[in-house]
Formats: sequence, structure tokens, C-alpha cells
Amino acid sequence: MNQRIYLDHNATTPVDPRVLEAMLPYFSTHFGNAASATHGLGCDAAGASEVARLQVAGLINAESKDIIFTSGATESANLAITGAARHRREHGRHLVTVATEHRACLEACEQLAAEGWELTVVGVDRHGQVAIKDIETSLRADTVLISCMFANNEIGTLHDIAGIGRLAKERQILLHVDGAQALGKEPIDVLAQGIDLLSLSAHKLYGPKGVGALYVRRRDPRVRLVPLMHGGGHERGLRPGTLNVPGIVGFGQACAIAREEMATEQSRLGGLKERLWRALQRIPGVIRLGHPEQCLAGTLNVVFTGINAQRLLVETPMVAASLGAACTSVTPKPSHVLRAIGLAWRQAEGAVRLSLGRWTTADEVDQAAAALTAGVERQRGLHPAAGSENAPRPT
Ligand SMILES: *Cc1c(COP(=O)(O)O)cnc(C)c1O
Repeated sequence: MNQRIYLDHNATTPVDPRVLEAMLPYFSTHFGNAASATHGLGCDAAGASEVARLQVAGLINAESKDIIFTSGATESANLAITGAARHRREHGRHLVTVATEHRACLEACEQLAAEGWELTVVGVDRHGQVAIKDIETSLRADTVLISCMFANNEIGTLHDIAGIGRLAKERQILLHVDGAQALGKEPIDVLAQGIDLLSLSAHKLYGPKGVGALYVRRRDPRVRLVPLMHGGGHERGLRPGTLNVPGIVGFGQACAIAREEMATEQSRLGGLKERLWRALQRIPGVIRLGHPEQCLAGTLNVVFTGINAQRLLVETPMVAASLGAACTSVTPKPSHVLRAIGLAWRQAEGAVRLSLGRWTTADEVDQAAAALTAGVERQRGLHPAAGSENAPRPT
């Protein structure tokens, strides 16, 4: 029972052994610089990067030329939002985003607001979903960009990206989508869904940390960006610097695997999540957050009413999960996502995010549910004798 059960896949995932295996030769035998195509080693590296570009593009119905490799979704989102806004500054200075976006997107927008752009942050309903009509109402003649995530990292809620894409097209406004949580979990089709810019990350998809991509549409319309960094002209001049070839190879392999396994894995995870929820539902006062249907298959965010989730997770070390409410060391405060869905601080304090992944088993789900149930009961003083010796005493 001492084995740790990892239910924090929305924070990061372990590298799939098949991904690691694909990467290893690019640290040693094939160590070349993809920009040094005057000899075999450089050509090997360049060729491997192009295969990976095809693999990433294939998972989102793009072409390989549309893919710019970056260090991750944070960098991609900053390049997309800042780069597009700066390029279109003569067209207008208004940006639209959504209250539950990842910090990478929100803060890139806020930085532009500090530099003179105007920003509208559209709210969400109690399930965390944005209404298309609310986005529509926020649009102005000078709006140049809408930024909306595909799937929320904290509560798993999916937005109607195709609907937002249609609206953006009608108004000739660019649409940036943060696809970090959705890639390989939900079908993404940049053409059908009207996505102009899409930020992606490898480490949420059983690939390595520190590598990601930005999809940049090349026609209908051709999207132009002002780069954030300068030097070398790599990646269509949008992201200079020597390519992280092993990381890129791993990202490509992770996408190829996800493409094969996504459909079966989605239904398997959905089944496991419902199994976990059925078990946790027996705890009095438990509430499920996020959209009941339009939600990532493996994400379950629950509130244990009256419980301090931080204490619960400390006292249940067997379960590796995240707090629903992000806490800083000094002042705990509810996450902006939980605030946006209207959760009071007292409730947000009891929120736990359980995110399942490729190697999660039914047995693990049952054990985690039992451990969390025991932890809640201990904290409620129902079984004080069963408490861990190290647990802080209630005051
Ligand atoms: C993890 C995550 C990011 C950041 O990705 P990195 O590759 O770690 O920079 C951005 N958006 C969402 C929704 C995420 O889950």
C-alpha cells in the first residue's frame, strides 16, 4: 500500500518508454545540428525534425510547414498572443480572452494591456464554459485577436472551439487556442475548427518537458507574427535558436502514439473517472466541478465540503494529486478558475484535482478513492484513532 498513485497527469505526465527510446539516439549517435545540413549528422537531425513536424501536424490536421517548435506551451502562447497583437497593431488594439485561461495566456494578454492594448476578459458559466454570445457581445470593430483554451487544465471543461472559430472567421479576427491539455486527448482539427494559432506542449502528452509547438496558419488567412526573439532565422524566423532535436523527436513520437491510441484511451479514462466518482460520491458533501459532459475524459475536480484539501493531500501521501485551489506559500487564495465558476473560498479550499493517465488502473482508482475517503473521515473526526501519527491535530 506504500506505492504512490499518480493522479496529477494534468500537471505533467511520465515520458512513454516508446518516446524515450525514439529520443535516445539523438543524444548520442545522431547529435548533429539540424541547421548544419552540409554533412550527414546535420542531415540526420534535420530529417528527424521534419518527421516529428509531420507527426505533430498529423494530430491536428495541419501541414508540417505550419508547425513552429518552441520550448513549450507557455512560450507558444506568448509568441502567438504578443506576436499577433504586435503585427496587427495598425488594425486595432482590442483583445478578447476568457477568465479561466492558463496563466501563460492571461498574463501575456495583461502585459499587452499594460502596453496600451485594451483587453476584455469574458466570464464563464458555473461549469466553466464560455457562451459564444458573450464572446460575440465583447467584439468590437478594432478587435484583432480572441484567445480561448480548448480544455481547462483545472476542471477539464471543453469550450466550443468550432463555434468560436466560426465567429472569429465571420469577423476576420484571429483565434488563438491553448491546446496544451487537449492535444492527444480530444480531436483537434485546425481547419474544421477555424483555429489560426494553436499552442501545444509535449510533456502533457507523455513526451519530454521543455518542448512544444505553435501551429501558425499559412493560408486563409496567412497569419503573421512579430517574433519575440531574434537570431539565426530558424523556424520561419519566428523562433530562432538551435533546435532541441531529441526533444522534438520525442514530441513527434508522442503525437504519433496519441493518434493511434486516443480513441480507445479516451473511453478507458472516461470509464475509470466514472468509477472514481462513483466511489467518492459516497462521501457526504462531495461536489463535482466542471462540465458534466463536455469535459476531458481523465480530469475529475471535486470539492470535499468543509475539508482543507491541502491537509487532506499531506495526510494522504499515497495519492499524488493537485489542490483545486492554488496556494502560494504566504497567502492561500483560490485559483482564478474556481473563482470564475463562482466557488466561494470556503468551498475552493476543499477542492482536489484528480487527473488520470495512460497507466492508471482500476485498482489504483479504487485504492485512491479509499485513501481519500479515509482522509476525509479522519479530518471530520469520524475515525480519529485511524489518523496518521504525523498529522497535525485539529485546533
Ligand atoms: C501546462 C499548460 C500550459 C503550459 O505548458 P508548458 O509546456 O509547461 O509551458 C499552458 N496551458 C495549459 C492549459 C496547460 O495545461
